[in-house]
Amino acid sequence: MELLDVAVIGAGPAGSSAARRLAAYDIRTVVLDKALFPRDKCCAGWITPGVLGSLGITPEEYGQHRTLQRLDGLVVWDSMGNPRRFPGFAGWGIRRMEFDAFLARRLGTHLVQGYRVKHLERVKGGIKINNDFQARLVIGAGGHLCPVAMQLTEADKHDEWTVAALCTEGKIPGRFAGALQEWAGWPHIIFTPDFSGYGWFFVKGDFVNIGMGVAGAGGTRVRAMLDWMLGLLRSKGVLSGDLPDALPGFHGHFYKLYSRMPRQVSGDNFLLAGDAAGMASPFSGEGIGPAVVSGQLAAEAAVMALYRNGAPDMYRDMLRADFGTMDSGGRLFEALVGHVSKPLMKAVLDNERLTRSIIVEKWFSAGSGR
Ligand SMILES: Cc1cc2nc3c(=O)[nH]c(=O)nc-3n(C[C@H](O)[C@H](O)[C@H](O)COP(=O)(O)OP(=O)(O)OC[C@H]3O[C@@H](n4cnc5c(N)ncnc54)[C@H](O)[C@@H]3O)c2cc1C
Repeated sequence: MELLDVAVIGAGPAGSSAARRLAAYDIRTVVLDKALFPRDKCCAGWITPGVLGSLGITPEEYGQHRTLQRLDGLVVWDSMGNPRRFPGFAGWGIRRMEFDAFLARRLGTHLVQGYRVKHLERVKGGIKINNDFQARLVIGAGGHLCPVAMQLTEADKHDEWTVAALCTEGKIPGRFAGALQEWAGWPHIIFTPDFSGYGWFFVKGDFVNIGMGVAGAGGTRVRAMLDWMLGLLRSKGVLSGDLPDALPGFHGHFYKLYSRMPRQVSGDNFLLAGDAAGMASPFSGEGIGPAVVSGQLAAEAAVMALYRNGAPDMYRDMLRADFGTMDSGGRLFEALVGHVSKPLMKAVLDNERLTRSIIVEKWFSAGSGR
């Protein structure tokens, strides 16, 4: 049995950010991930302008050997099915296969890959993991179904506001490359007719990512909305013929949005970060930036808890201070979706100024012109 101060479970953006921050302290830390890196993750791979800065990475450093598509604006489709361009810096397009592997390589702490955490047990002075490790504190960063959230919290998983999503990403076959070049760095956002979700069509470098996410839906409905969007893209000549068939099959995933102040984010000897804590933006579904920030905050809370030997209860307040507006805004947004939202959303989408100020700038943190 290996004795640790902190075990970080999951080496996605939340776990790797937590681990990198912990590496600055003289603390026995291990990161455990069931995957072998590089591993893929169902994701559009859009990071908003502040994310690289939060990670302390420059675009030059990251982009040297990896896909890093500068986003010059968004294409938001109006309710009549017409694409409209909204210029202004919108962040970057990355590939999760490369991005997460890059983060995992610069942890500064020991990463045990291909190690699945199955069983957690509270013991005196900490938590035992699979009978292999015992940690004074565990940071659960294992995504939506993180074992720490599932086994150590009382969260009512049925009461959660989740997004069901389908997506694919693949290299653009040569015969489509010319036609798609026009959209490189201009992700398309297409809201579903009932505004309960949106789809995207995202060309980044030599790759294209297509997907659909719908709040409070099951797999059949997401598939129907995805097919509807693919039909629309084809009918407007954006998507050429059989491109989706030339890409890998669509993968499904679901995750919780930040609203109804998320899951129980801390307790005796544990903290949750990223999707495990339900930190994704209720407006756009953005989860990478919130995972990075909550991972870093979790590391700081862990260090404080270890030094004063107490429960990491201040972590919840730290999250509230950082994500507070999303909490109240998210509740309102959640209340609106599927109720009075239809005429409101239609009015917003069909008015260029409102689309820019509400959807582009507020929800997607884009269009700042930087
Ligand atoms: C279709 C889709 C599109 C999205 N698009 C975007 C986007 O464009 N931009 C954006 O910002 N966000 C996007 N998101 C959200 C984003 O992907 C997540 O919010 C983000 O990945 C959360 O990071 P994380 O580190 O918390 O979890 P994850 O990235 O899920 O990492 C969790 C890690 O934990 C490991 N793990 C899980 N269980 C165990 C276990 N039992 N033992 C050991 N290891 C384990 C996994 O292998 C994984 O490496 C999207 C999500 C979906 C579903």
